[in-house]
Amino acid sequence: MRFIAVTGLTALCIGLFAYLGVSRASGLMNGPEFVAALNNYLRLQYEAEFYVREFENELDLMVAEKEKFPSRELDPLSTRPYAELRRLWPLIVFETDRLAEAYQAFLESGGGEDRLTLSDARRWLTSLTEADQLQILPLLLKLKDISGDHGPFPSWVDQSNLGALFRKNEAEIASKAAAYAGASRRRSERGAIVYPSPDSAGNFTGNLLPENVYVFTFDDGPGNKSTLRLHKVLTEYRDPLHRSGAPATFFVLIERVERAPDVLEATQALGFRINNHSWTHPDFSKIGAAQLRREIVDSTYELKGYLRTSFRFFRCPYGACFAPKVPAARELIAEQGLIHAYWNIDSLDWKNIGHPDRTVSLVIKEMQVRKRGLILMHDIHESTVDAAAGVLKWIRSRNEAGAHLQMLDLENAVDLVNQLGS
Ligand SMILES: [Zn+2]
Repeated sequence: MRFIAVTGLTALCIGLFAYLGVSRASGLMNGPEFVAALNNYLRLQYEAEFYVREFENELDLMVAEKEKFPSRELDPLSTRPYAELRRLWPLIVFETDRLAEAYQAFLESGGGEDRLTLSDARRWLTSLTEADQLQILPLLLKLKDISGDHGPFPSWVDQSNLGALFRKNEAEIASKAAAYAGASRRRSERGAIVYPSPDSAGNFTGNLLPENVYVFTFDDGPGNKSTLRLHKVLTEYRDPLHRSGAPATFFVLIERVERAPDVLEATQALGFRINNHSWTHPDFSKIGAAQLRREIVDSTYELKGYLRTSFRFFRCPYGACFAPKVPAARELIAEQGLIHAYWNIDSLDWKNIGHPDRTVSLVIKEMQVRKRGLILMHDIHESTVDAAAGVLKWIRSRNEAGAHLQMLDLENAVDLVNQLGS
């Protein structure tokens, strides 16, 4: 009797440990989630396929137009298909890595639940048509690399030129690409998780980000010397996805922009994202309705003028714009079509001016605790520039040691959350 009880308990413990092991190793994915993620990945690839085709159509039109009017300036990268591809690019790279990592974890642990997951995944892979396989080629290459020769991979997978295969499957690829892109557009109109709204859907904290994804945000600028030096630091830590270097999002004050429009212009020219942090940085809980309008509505209009384009986020000074104190602020922000960007990792750099090491240490510890997040910093302090360099250096060294910490700008991060959640 006693023996049976102990055995039962042991089995339970082994089961529990096995379960925890799987969850940790595979980024919290079980079998059905893994197959759902594979399906989502196929959808993303077809969607990107659609926009590459659209992009090529735009190029054809531009080539013809340029021939007719040689002096006309045309910019393929300012077209809608290109914007869609820029949105999909980080998503696809992120998902390729995440799925390959999970597959490897399932392969390494090899038994029980994981064997079921692996056979689910292999069944999914063998159910694909040749057209589908061509769409998910980057993932197939990684999976084949991970598993050696074991796995249901087509023989052509690592050949360098698959032109004939693509031509053979052209009809199916074209029709699926159009169907997936259309479905995605309908879904994004309906099912976004984060969007402009005075309730919680319109307040992005970073808590919803997938594990290992981080966003740098810099407030209260543009500063003069410090912001320009920060540009250099970010550029040094170049990310293959971002021509400008490590991605970062700046929340600027109009009163500062008026004093340093050239710094704003440099930030934008380098490809960093710029959003609104109000006109004069008052505490919203202490001002009247007329000033609140100026700080949110007028400043948004003004910043669009400076940027010559729209933007998507607003951050209240001190983060102070929550009910019941100032619900009006969040309503005005949503009315402007903006999402409120809060944070879930606070560098406290304003308290550690001249002491960047402490800021680095606080941020790294918060990153280790939260595992994901929106990092709040201020580019008006010289010591913050040093702190940012320290955090970026740490991220790089962690990644060189095999971690997969990813930096995104806020825009791509919110798109990622909406896409993965839909
Ligand atoms: Zn601020």
